[in-house]
Amino acid sequence: MAAECIFCRIVAGAIPAERVYEDDALIAIRDINPQAPTHLLLIPRRHIGSLADLTPADRDLGGALLLAARALADRLELVRGFRLVANSGSEGGQTVPHLHLHLLGGRPMRWPPG
Ligand code: AMP
Ligand code: ZN
Repeated sequence: MAAECIFCRIVAGAIPAERVYEDDALIAIRDINPQAPTHLLLIPRRHIGSLADLTPADRDLGGALLLAARALADRLELVRGFRLVANSGSEGGQTVPHLHLHLLGGRPMRWPPG
């Protein structure tokens, strides 16, 4: 755990968050500043800085994140669709340097994103 990392602290339970799912690899919480009626963050338990830091050894984790997103979209009945986002790096709009996927749904999404 990176002691100064807010998502490591949430994973450890040191900062409260509304958990909607967890397993050995990851947790899913509600975003504190939701950008859609449903806005979850899927956060690996292990500290990985961003998608740019993922390696071939993380293949199972990558699969677990995608499958958890798909299962949560199903459970939350996002039947009309949803969007999965991984902001990576400063130009990618990443503000928390611990890998996470945004799962957004419940309203029509526009393209391209800003
Ligand atoms: P990003 O800009 O892609 O790095 O996304 C970081 C996200 O984390 C933003 O959508 C924030 O609203 C969210 N966030 C930051 N702090 C918290 C927190 N304590 N609990 C839940 N979500 C948070
Ligand atoms: Zn971290």
